[in-house]
Amino acid sequence: MEVYDIGMRTRFRGITRRQGVLVRGDAGWAEWSPFLDYTGAELVPWWRACREAAEEGFPPPVRAEVEVNCTVPAVDAERAHALTAGSGCRTAKVKVAEPGQTLADDEARLEAVRDALGPGGALRVDANGAWDVDTAERAVGVLRRLDLQYVEQPCATVEELAELRRRLARRGWDVRVAADESIRRSGDPERVVAAEAADVAVLKVQPLGGVRACLELAERLGLPVVVSSALETSVGLAAGVALAAALPELPFACGLNTVPLLHEDVTSDPLVAHDGAIAVRTSAPAPDLFPAVVADADTTASWRHRWDTTRAAAA
Ligand SMILES: [Mg+2]
Repeated sequence: MEVYDIGMRTRFRGITRRQGVLVRGDAGWAEWSPFLDYTGAELVPWWRACREAAEEGFPPPVRAEVEVNCTVPAVDAERAHALTAGSGCRTAKVKVAEPGQTLADDEARLEAVRDALGPGGALRVDANGAWDVDTAERAVGVLRRLDLQYVEQPCATVEELAELRRRLARRGWDVRVAADESIRRSGDPERVVAAEAADVAVLKVQPLGGVRACLELAERLGLPVVVSSALETSVGLAAGVALAAALPELPFACGLNTVPLLHEDVTSDPLVAHDGAIAVRTSAPAPDLFPAVVADADTTASWRHRWDTTRAAAA
Protein backbone atom coordinates (compact mmCIF):
# COMPACT_ATOMS: atom_id res chain seq x y z
CA MET A 1 0.00 0.00 0.00
CA GLU A 2 1.42 3.36 -1.10
CA VAL A 3 0.14 6.88 -0.51
CA TYR A 4 0.67 9.44 -3.28
CA ASP A 5 0.56 13.25 -3.14
CA ILE A 6 0.51 15.08 -6.49
CA GLY A 7 0.11 18.78 -7.30
CA MET A 8 -2.58 19.90 -9.75
CA ARG A 9 -1.82 22.08 -12.76
CA THR A 10 -5.08 23.97 -12.40
CA ARG A 11 -7.04 24.53 -9.24
CA PHE A 12 -10.11 22.35 -9.64
CA ARG A 13 -12.99 21.74 -7.25
CA GLY A 14 -11.14 24.12 -4.90
CA ILE A 15 -8.17 21.79 -4.52
CA THR A 16 -4.55 22.21 -5.51
CA ARG A 17 -3.19 18.77 -4.57
CA ARG A 18 -4.52 15.28 -5.13
CA GLN A 19 -3.79 12.50 -2.65
CA GLY A 20 -4.77 8.86 -2.41
CA VAL A 21 -3.81 5.26 -1.81
CA LEU A 22 -2.61 2.71 -4.37
CA VAL A 23 -2.94 -0.96 -3.51
CA ARG A 24 -2.33 -4.17 -5.38
CA GLY A 25 -4.68 -7.16 -5.12
CA ASP A 26 -5.11 -10.46 -6.96
CA ALA A 27 -6.78 -8.72 -9.92
CA GLY A 28 -4.35 -5.81 -10.21
CA TRP A 29 -3.64 -2.29 -9.02
CA ALA A 30 -6.37 -0.14 -7.53
CA GLU A 31 -6.74 3.42 -6.26
CA TRP A 32 -8.60 4.78 -3.26
CA SER A 33 -8.71 8.58 -3.39
CA PRO A 34 -11.81 10.07 -1.75
CA PHE A 35 -11.70 13.87 -1.65
CA LEU A 36 -10.91 15.20 1.81
CA ASP A 37 -14.43 16.63 2.25
CA TYR A 38 -15.85 13.08 2.18
CA THR A 39 -16.10 11.56 5.66
CA GLY A 40 -17.55 8.61 7.58
CA ALA A 41 -20.06 6.41 5.74
CA GLU A 42 -19.58 8.45 2.52
CA LEU A 43 -16.12 6.87 2.23
CA VAL A 44 -17.42 3.30 2.05
CA PRO A 45 -18.49 3.33 -1.65
CA TRP A 46 -15.02 4.63 -2.56
CA TRP A 47 -13.56 1.70 -0.62
CA ARG A 48 -15.83 -0.82 -2.38
CA ALA A 49 -14.75 0.56 -5.75
CA CYS A 50 -11.10 0.13 -4.76
CA ARG A 51 -11.68 -3.42 -3.54
CA GLU A 52 -13.45 -4.31 -6.80
CA ALA A 53 -10.50 -3.14 -8.88
CA ALA A 54 -7.97 -4.91 -6.64
CA GLU A 55 -9.79 -8.21 -6.04
CA GLU A 56 -12.21 -8.75 -8.93
CA GLY A 57 -11.06 -6.63 -11.84
CA PHE A 58 -13.50 -5.12 -14.33
CA PRO A 59 -16.35 -6.55 -16.42
CA PRO A 60 -15.58 -7.19 -20.11
CA PRO A 61 -15.57 -4.12 -22.40
CA VAL A 62 -17.92 -3.75 -25.35
CA ARG A 63 -15.80 -1.06 -27.02
CA ALA A 64 -12.08 -0.52 -27.53
CA GLU A 65 -11.95 3.22 -26.98
CA VAL A 66 -13.94 5.91 -25.20
CA GLU A 67 -14.58 9.34 -26.68
CA VAL A 68 -13.85 12.13 -24.19
CA ASN A 69 -14.68 15.81 -23.83
CA CYS A 70 -12.29 18.65 -23.12
CA THR A 71 -13.08 20.75 -20.07
CA VAL A 72 -12.98 24.52 -20.34
CA PRO A 73 -12.74 26.34 -16.98
CA ALA A 74 -14.31 29.76 -16.41
CA VAL A 75 -11.59 31.51 -18.44
CA ASP A 76 -11.86 34.34 -20.96
CA ALA A 77 -13.04 33.75 -24.53
CA GLU A 78 -9.59 33.78 -26.12
CA ARG A 79 -8.21 31.19 -23.71
CA ALA A 80 -11.39 29.07 -24.04
CA HIS A 81 -10.96 29.03 -27.83
CA ALA A 82 -7.31 27.96 -27.57
CA LEU A 83 -8.04 25.21 -25.01
CA THR A 84 -10.80 23.73 -27.16
CA ALA A 85 -8.92 23.97 -30.44
CA GLY A 86 -5.81 22.41 -28.89
CA SER A 87 -7.63 19.53 -27.21
CA GLY A 88 -8.34 17.31 -30.21
CA CYS A 89 -11.82 16.71 -28.75
CA ARG A 90 -15.11 17.02 -30.63
CA THR A 91 -17.03 17.67 -27.41
CA ALA A 92 -16.38 20.51 -24.97
CA LYS A 93 -17.70 20.95 -21.46
CA VAL A 94 -17.65 24.58 -20.41
CA LYS A 95 -17.85 25.75 -16.80
CA VAL A 96 -20.44 28.52 -16.31
CA ALA A 97 -21.99 30.45 -13.41
CA GLU A 98 -18.61 31.21 -11.83
CA PRO A 99 -18.96 33.58 -8.84
CA GLY A 100 -18.04 37.14 -9.87
CA GLN A 101 -18.83 36.53 -13.56
CA THR A 102 -21.94 37.40 -15.57
CA LEU A 103 -24.10 35.58 -18.10
CA ALA A 104 -22.45 37.76 -20.75
CA ASP A 105 -19.07 36.26 -19.72
CA ASP A 106 -20.51 32.76 -20.09
CA GLU A 107 -22.01 33.67 -23.47
CA ALA A 108 -18.71 35.06 -24.76
CA ARG A 109 -16.83 31.94 -23.58
CA LEU A 110 -19.40 29.64 -25.18
CA GLU A 111 -19.34 31.56 -28.47
CA ALA A 112 -15.57 31.11 -28.60
CA VAL A 113 -15.80 27.39 -27.82
CA ARG A 114 -18.55 26.88 -30.44
CA ASP A 115 -16.33 28.67 -32.96
CA ALA A 116 -13.39 26.40 -32.09
CA LEU A 117 -15.51 23.22 -32.28
CA GLY A 118 -17.32 24.09 -35.48
CA PRO A 119 -20.99 23.31 -36.06
CA GLY A 120 -20.42 19.52 -35.86
CA GLY A 121 -18.94 19.60 -32.35
CA ALA A 122 -20.92 19.05 -29.17
CA LEU A 123 -21.09 21.79 -26.56
CA ARG A 124 -22.28 21.29 -22.98
CA VAL A 125 -22.17 23.51 -19.90
CA ASP A 126 -21.73 22.68 -16.21
CA ALA A 127 -23.08 25.14 -13.60
CA ASN A 128 -22.30 22.90 -10.59
CA GLY A 129 -25.69 23.77 -9.08
CA ALA A 130 -25.00 27.51 -8.91
CA TRP A 131 -28.18 28.83 -10.58
CA ASP A 132 -31.65 29.15 -9.12
CA VAL A 133 -34.47 28.07 -11.47
CA ASP A 134 -35.20 31.58 -12.81
CA THR A 135 -31.53 32.25 -13.53
CA ALA A 136 -31.10 28.84 -15.15
CA GLU A 137 -34.13 29.43 -17.38
CA ARG A 138 -32.78 32.84 -18.40
CA ALA A 139 -29.30 31.39 -19.06
CA VAL A 140 -30.65 28.54 -21.21
CA GLY A 141 -32.74 31.11 -23.09
CA VAL A 142 -29.59 33.04 -23.98
CA LEU A 143 -27.14 30.16 -24.50
CA ARG A 144 -29.34 27.70 -26.40
CA ARG A 145 -28.69 29.44 -29.73
CA LEU A 146 -25.17 27.98 -29.48
CA ASP A 147 -26.70 24.47 -29.66
CA LEU A 148 -26.25 22.92 -26.22
CA GLN A 149 -25.96 19.15 -25.89
CA TYR A 150 -27.02 19.45 -22.27
CA VAL A 151 -26.89 21.67 -19.19
CA GLU A 152 -25.17 19.83 -16.32
CA GLN A 153 -26.46 20.38 -12.78
CA PRO A 154 -27.88 23.86 -13.53
CA CYS A 155 -29.45 24.04 -10.06
CA ALA A 156 -28.56 22.45 -6.74
CA THR A 157 -31.60 20.36 -5.82
CA VAL A 158 -33.56 17.60 -7.54
CA GLU A 159 -36.77 19.64 -7.14
CA GLU A 160 -35.21 22.64 -8.91
CA LEU A 161 -33.91 20.44 -11.76
CA ALA A 162 -37.41 19.02 -12.21
CA GLU A 163 -38.99 22.50 -12.20
CA LEU A 164 -36.45 23.74 -14.76
CA ARG A 165 -37.15 20.75 -17.02
CA ARG A 166 -40.88 21.48 -16.89
CA ARG A 167 -40.26 25.13 -17.79
CA LEU A 168 -37.95 24.25 -20.70
CA ALA A 169 -40.56 21.80 -22.03
CA ARG A 170 -43.30 24.43 -21.69
CA ARG A 171 -41.23 26.88 -23.75
CA GLY A 172 -40.47 24.20 -26.33
CA TRP A 173 -36.71 24.55 -25.75
CA ASP A 174 -35.04 21.30 -26.63
CA VAL A 175 -32.13 21.38 -24.13
CA ARG A 176 -31.36 18.33 -21.99
CA VAL A 177 -30.66 18.54 -18.26
CA ALA A 178 -27.88 16.34 -16.81
CA ALA A 179 -27.62 15.42 -13.13
CA ASP A 180 -24.17 15.07 -11.57
CA GLU A 181 -24.04 16.12 -7.88
CA SER A 182 -27.71 15.06 -7.54
CA ILE A 183 -26.72 11.48 -8.47
CA ARG A 184 -23.47 11.19 -6.57
CA ARG A 185 -24.07 12.99 -3.28
CA SER A 186 -27.82 12.96 -2.68
CA GLY A 187 -27.73 9.45 -1.18
CA ASP A 188 -30.72 8.62 -3.40
CA PRO A 189 -29.83 8.72 -7.12
CA GLU A 190 -33.16 7.18 -8.13
CA ARG A 191 -35.03 10.24 -6.90
CA VAL A 192 -33.70 12.03 -10.00
CA VAL A 193 -35.69 9.62 -12.15
CA ALA A 194 -38.77 9.57 -9.90
CA ALA A 195 -38.93 13.38 -10.02
CA GLU A 196 -38.23 13.44 -13.81
CA ALA A 197 -35.39 15.81 -12.99
CA ALA A 198 -32.86 14.84 -15.68
CA ASP A 199 -32.36 13.49 -19.20
CA VAL A 200 -28.74 12.39 -18.64
CA ALA A 201 -26.94 10.88 -15.62
CA VAL A 202 -23.29 11.62 -14.85
CA LEU A 203 -21.72 8.64 -13.06
CA LYS A 204 -18.40 8.50 -11.19
CA VAL A 205 -17.05 5.09 -10.23
CA GLN A 206 -15.42 5.75 -6.85
CA PRO A 207 -18.22 7.68 -5.05
CA LEU A 208 -20.83 5.28 -6.48
CA GLY A 209 -19.15 2.08 -5.27
CA GLY A 210 -17.43 0.56 -8.30
CA VAL A 211 -17.87 -0.33 -11.96
CA ARG A 212 -20.47 -3.07 -11.38
CA ALA A 213 -22.46 -0.88 -8.97
CA CYS A 214 -22.51 1.86 -11.64
CA LEU A 215 -23.62 -0.57 -14.37
CA GLU A 216 -26.50 -1.69 -12.13
CA LEU A 217 -27.37 1.92 -11.27
CA ALA A 218 -27.34 2.87 -14.97
CA GLU A 219 -29.78 0.07 -15.69
CA ARG A 220 -32.09 1.12 -12.85
CA LEU A 221 -31.98 4.79 -13.87
CA GLY A 222 -32.70 4.04 -17.52
CA LEU A 223 -31.04 7.31 -18.58
CA PRO A 224 -28.12 7.85 -20.97
CA VAL A 225 -24.90 7.91 -18.94
CA VAL A 226 -21.81 10.09 -19.12
CA VAL A 227 -18.87 8.69 -17.13
CA SER A 228 -16.70 11.22 -15.32
CA SER A 229 -13.54 10.86 -13.25
CA ALA A 230 -12.81 11.89 -9.69
CA LEU A 231 -9.45 13.33 -10.78
CA GLU A 232 -7.57 10.07 -10.22
CA THR A 233 -4.12 9.02 -11.39
CA SER A 234 -4.08 6.64 -14.37
CA VAL A 235 -4.50 3.69 -11.97
CA GLY A 236 -7.82 4.96 -10.61
CA LEU A 237 -8.95 6.44 -13.92
CA ALA A 238 -8.82 2.95 -15.45
CA ALA A 239 -11.97 2.10 -13.47
CA GLY A 240 -13.86 5.00 -15.10
CA VAL A 241 -12.59 3.90 -18.50
CA ALA A 242 -13.71 0.33 -17.70
CA LEU A 243 -17.22 1.56 -16.85
CA ALA A 244 -17.46 3.62 -20.03
CA ALA A 245 -16.17 0.60 -21.97
CA ALA A 246 -18.73 -1.78 -20.45
CA LEU A 247 -21.92 0.30 -20.71
CA PRO A 248 -24.27 -1.14 -23.36
CA GLU A 249 -24.93 2.37 -24.75
CA LEU A 250 -22.59 5.35 -24.64
CA PRO A 251 -24.16 8.17 -26.65
CA PHE A 252 -22.06 11.08 -25.33
CA ALA A 253 -18.35 11.78 -24.79
CA CYS A 254 -17.08 11.13 -21.24
CA GLY A 255 -15.28 13.37 -18.75
CA LEU A 256 -12.28 11.08 -18.40
CA ASN A 257 -9.39 13.04 -19.86
CA THR A 258 -8.37 14.40 -16.47
CA VAL A 259 -4.89 12.94 -15.93
CA PRO A 260 -3.39 16.00 -17.71
CA LEU A 261 -4.76 18.11 -14.83
CA LEU A 262 -2.17 16.47 -12.56
CA HIS A 263 1.46 17.59 -12.52
CA GLU A 264 2.65 13.99 -12.40
CA ASP A 265 1.27 10.52 -12.86
CA VAL A 266 2.33 7.19 -11.38
CA THR A 267 2.97 5.59 -14.77
CA SER A 268 5.07 6.55 -17.79
CA ASP A 269 2.22 5.45 -20.08
CA PRO A 270 -0.69 7.54 -18.78
CA LEU A 271 -4.36 7.01 -19.66
CA VAL A 272 -4.79 10.19 -21.70
CA ALA A 273 -6.74 10.94 -24.86
CA HIS A 274 -5.30 10.85 -28.34
CA ASP A 275 -7.46 12.50 -31.02
CA GLY A 276 -10.32 12.86 -28.55
CA ALA A 277 -10.47 9.25 -27.32
CA ILE A 278 -8.88 7.08 -24.61
CA ALA A 279 -7.92 3.49 -25.44
CA VAL A 280 -9.52 0.96 -23.08
CA ARG A 281 -6.92 -0.69 -20.82
CA THR A 282 -5.78 -0.79 -17.20
CA SER A 283 -2.72 0.90 -15.73
CA ALA A 284 -0.05 -0.08 -13.21
CA PRO A 285 2.31 2.27 -11.36
CA ALA A 286 5.93 2.32 -12.44
CA PRO A 287 8.20 1.61 -9.42
CA ASP A 288 10.84 4.08 -10.64
CA LEU A 289 8.32 6.94 -10.84
CA PHE A 290 6.81 6.38 -7.44
CA PRO A 291 9.46 8.04 -5.24
CA ALA A 292 8.68 11.39 -6.92
CA VAL A 293 5.02 11.31 -5.88
CA VAL A 294 5.13 9.46 -2.56
CA ALA A 295 3.47 11.36 0.30
CA ASP A 296 5.39 12.55 3.37
CA ALA A 297 5.18 10.61 6.65
CA ASP A 298 2.35 12.67 8.19
CA THR A 299 0.16 12.48 5.07
CA THR A 300 0.83 8.75 4.77
CA ALA A 301 -0.10 8.19 8.43
CA SER A 302 -3.37 10.11 8.08
CA TRP A 303 -4.35 8.17 4.92
CA ARG A 304 -3.54 4.86 6.62
CA HIS A 305 -5.79 5.86 9.50
CA ARG A 306 -8.56 6.89 7.07
CA TRP A 307 -8.16 3.58 5.24
CA ASP A 308 -8.30 1.46 8.43
CA THR A 309 -11.38 3.28 9.76
CA THR A 310 -13.21 2.96 6.43
CA ARG A 311 -12.34 -0.72 6.07
CA ALA A 312 -13.73 -1.35 9.56
CA ALA A 313 -16.90 0.61 8.70
CA ALA A 314 -17.33 -1.38 5.45
CA ALA A 315 -16.98 -4.78 7.14
MG1 LIG B 1 -20.25 18.21 -13.02
